[in-house]
Amino acid sequence: MKKISYGHQWIDRDDIREVVKALKSDWLTQGPRIRDFEKALCRRTGARYAVAVSSGTAALHIACLAAGIEKNDEVITSPVTFVASSNCILYCGAKPVFADIQEDTVNIDPKEIGRKINKKTKAIIPVHFAGHPCDLVEIHKIAGKYGLIVIEDACHALGAEYKVNGRWLKIGSCKHSDMTVFSFHPVKSITTGEGGAVTTNNKKLYERLLVFRNHGISRDVSRFIGPWYYEMQHLGFNYRITDIQCALGISQLRKLKTFIGHRREAARLYNDLLCGIEEAELPVERDGYRSAWHLYPVRIKKAQNRKMVFENLHKNKIGVQVHYIPVHLQPYYRKSFGYKRGDYPVSERYYERAITLPIHFQMKTAEIKYVTGIFKKLIR
Ligand SMILES: *Cc1c(COP(=O)(O)O)cnc(C)c1O
Repeated sequence: MKKISYGHQWIDRDDIREVVKALKSDWLTQGPRIRDFEKALCRRTGARYAVAVSSGTAALHIACLAAGIEKNDEVITSPVTFVASSNCILYCGAKPVFADIQEDTVNIDPKEIGRKINKKTKAIIPVHFAGHPCDLVEIHKIAGKYGLIVIEDACHALGAEYKVNGRWLKIGSCKHSDMTVFSFHPVKSITTGEGGAVTTNNKKLYERLLVFRNHGISRDVSRFIGPWYYEMQHLGFNYRITDIQCALGISQLRKLKTFIGHRREAARLYNDLLCGIEEAELPVERDGYRSAWHLYPVRIKKAQNRKMVFENLHKNKIGVQVHYIPVHLQPYYRKSFGYKRGDYPVSERYYERAITLPIHFQMKTAEIKYVTGIFKKLIR
């Protein structure tokens, strides 16, 4: 039997055909497929603008730059996330400040955000952990009150939705934020190999994102001086994505609904097979939310057993993972900012018991039954 990995891409013949077409075209990069992919992202999310880049990390970085985050600023994010959510703050020379999580969703707790705001606070980066949207309405309210920018890290959450006043809103629509960031790494909702994007409804931010993607160069000044002219006003990067990748992205986006539907069914099956088990706590989906189910993170009641359970699952070819070691406990963060164990107790308690069971488009019912069968025996 092949090892069941915690996440995996799904590439079909249509994807391959689109990529081959791009390879045979005149454009390998900076061609028409980038705009087409961005337009498709706008259609899928409901946002006015999208800027596709070389990775989710690059997308987070240019979003922070577009937001004007710089030295002496503070930015609030969740401790339970991939380090990239917080590293983008460091890239801008600002200080990452964490706010502890809600016990049930593992998402940043709006009440904790309120306690971390001071005069230096510039932005909030809520992370939709495992694909479950944060309480964006509340976060938006807090941001409005203090004049903060909201950048959603939706790297887990392309395809997720949340309900406001009886209406379902798509993550990425930026109805309650300034920008939303996505990743198209192979384990995420859709893939372009490496890749990412930022969506926004704000034209000024959109224009800044374009500039930071391309060395900080803007060309719209050429009309003043001459057609050859370009100007570098900011320090940007080469974070461009290729047409080859966007060909794959366009084709993958067509399958997004199917992908998310399958993940939701896999999650439901896990819930059914594991419900009523005393030794584990299952991930929740709050009323009014539709998770993208990027992950299926379970909490083992007996934290001391986690290592044994983890090792034995791998011995049985089940590629479980732990998402995530709280960022503030990483040595770099401890050294740079003096963060220590005990600073974010809810996050730390979550981490000690967390184990992510495999969930992705290729997973079959029999595999989920196999995983839960072994998992149940191990946690006893
Ligand atoms: C994957 C991920 C990123 C980074 O995306 P890359 O495309 O790998 O650079 C950032 N934040 C979160 C929460 C992620 O899961």
